Amino acid sequence: MESEVNDIKGVVFDIQRFSTHDGPGIRTTVFLKGCPLACSWCHNPESQSAHYELFFNKKICIDCGSCNKTCPFGNAREILQDSELRKEKCGSCLLCANVCPANAIEKVGKIYTSDEIVSEIEKDLPFYENSNGGITISGGEPLLQYDFTIDILKKVKRKNIHTTIDTSGFASKEKFLEVAPYVDLFLWDIKITDENLHKKYTGAPLNPIIENLKVVDLYGTKTILSLILIPEVNMNDQHYKAIANIYSDLINVQGIRLLPYHEYGNSKNERLGIMNHDSYSEPTDKEMSDACKAIQKINNQIKILQ
Ligand code: SF4
Ligand code: SF4
Repeated sequence: MESEVNDIKGVVFDIQRFSTHDGPGIRTTVFLKGCPLACSWCHNPESQSAHYELFFNKKICIDCGSCNKTCPFGNAREILQDSELRKEKCGSCLLCANVCPANAIEKVGKIYTSDEIVSEIEKDLPFYENSNGGITISGGEPLLQYDFTIDILKKVKRKNIHTTIDTSGFASKEKFLEVAPYVDLFLWDIKITDENLHKKYTGAPLNPIIENLKVVDLYGTKTILSLILIPEVNMNDQHYKAIANIYSDLINVQGIRLLPYHEYGNSKNERLGIMNHDSYSEPTDKEMSDACKAIQKINNQIKILQ
């Protein structure tokens, strides 16, 4: 039997229990910090940096001035509301967060060991068994913290728990092949199918994402394609046709999830001091339903999942 040499550490920004949207059944979703993409519509902008950082919630600040008094620069409030000042000055010393009486400054990100994650997951074993659920590792991009992710997967798989990875698809082919034996399902994000637009909006090339998808498909792992739909960006027939082509090339794909863009990333951006973030409109229910029909009109064999 393979011995446990290490208890690897990783940075986690959230653990959601009783999740029903991140794979089959009832799941525990572990959100890891760090992403190689920088999508301008990201719902979880606090996932992008691999390090811990601070949320500042101006709405609950009572303006007591304690943070400014303790900050080495004397102006914590100003620093926390300006992403450039944060980069320039803030060393994330947490002194301001420790003295804030209103909890308006919150640390995002916590170090866990893989054993601690497995212990968290085991709390909900009866729910997984009754619902065919399991664990989902999400992010950020789970493979950015590759050693941590594969360590969790190996430990969880030994307990016969279903494993899902929610991935941007952007990591080396070798890493995908190494985790694949421990993954039951990949939720595979495809944001935009035009190569130039993909680079423009996400900062990363599209091609490796599609090539990696084919690699895990050929390996035999199940996938579900996750499409975030944003009216100004990708709700058009050209995108749907490209998605249908990608889908047709896959052997083990289980279906497509259509996910409407939500504006709630905006307030998170502001809490990170990013005030000049991009804004998009949320698709209406009718636009989502039209997108579903448009994809099935191109190929009625495509399974759209709820
Ligand atoms: S984390 Fe430290 S340096 Fe940054 S604003 Fe707070 S007190 Fe100032
Ligand atoms: S310590 Fe907290 S409540 Fe007081 S001014 Fe700073 S952020 Fe606001």
